[in-house]
Amino acid sequence: MKLIVNKHTGRRVLINPIRDLRKSDFSAMEHDECPFCPNYQRNEKYLRYEEKIIDHWITRSIDNKFPALICDHDRHQRGEIDYGRHEVMIETPEHFKNYYDFSEEDFFHVFRMYKNRYMALTQEECIASVIIYKNHMKSAGASKVHSHSQILSMSFIPPEIEKEIKMSQLGSFSSEQYKIYEDESFIAFIPPDAFFSGELIIRHKSSTQFQSITEQEMKQLGTIFYHIFGKISQIYGFIPFNTYLHSLPKDVCADEYYWHIHVIPRKGKFGGFELGTGLYINSLDIDSAVKKFKK
Ligand SMILES: [Zn+2]
Ligand SMILES: [Zn+2]
Repeated sequence: MKLIVNKHTGRRVLINPIRDLRKSDFSAMEHDECPFCPNYQRNEKYLRYEEKIIDHWITRSIDNKFPALICDHDRHQRGEIDYGRHEVMIETPEHFKNYYDFSEEDFFHVFRMYKNRYMALTQEECIASVIIYKNHMKSAGASKVHSHSQILSMSFIPPEIEKEIKMSQLGSFSSEQYKIYEDESFIAFIPPDAFFSGELIIRHKSSTQFQSITEQEMKQLGTIFYHIFGKISQIYGFIPFNTYLHSLPKDVCADEYYWHIHVIPRKGKFGGFELGTGLYINSLDIDSAVKKFKK
């Protein structure tokens, strides 16, 4: 559970042997044993958040059984580990429902949970940054079929966010030339220089930190997600994807950094070229992609 620098490549690596014990349920279509389904008997001490309609929960967040980091203050203070909390946010009680089936209202409830958990995790004193991410389907890194996102708080700022902050300070953050959607709070666009072909970014227009999102903005974001995932399924089919939310860490000043969500349809796979060069070939026909997403 410690961040180290690899002596060969200089890349930073989080060492964590317990993550290897995770089980995948993609081979089994049955969901009797799914730990995210409502009928699963789970110890309530792991429950961190729940939104209910009458007697039934619609979203809930639980401790991740295989956390990337652990919250042990003593060991953190002795310098033995890096500190963090890791939760799984279950986005629907329905086992097979996913973002391609979600309504605008379903997304709204997901973002309401995101905000609650983001605020709770970012408040801890020793926390430097918090990330929310989602893997959909096995080839995008998911180990469970049941729709969920994850939230991870960290006692350090991860390299990707550090790099983005630096770019924002150079004034070159987020190219919005290829806009596909806009309302009073958000802009959604396809970056022509994206590392991943087909990546989309949904960015707040004026707010640096995610926790300031309002109920009205959660509704707007629900509309944007509904629109975008409808388009992804029309253009690429029901393909695996990743999303991740970047927000300015609490003790960092960067006026030009605005919180945003990356949506990455996983059209291609990584191979020796990408691993060996640290490069990724973006093969997107940007003008035609923008036209298709705008329609
Ligand atoms: Zn399930
Ligand atoms: Zn980002």
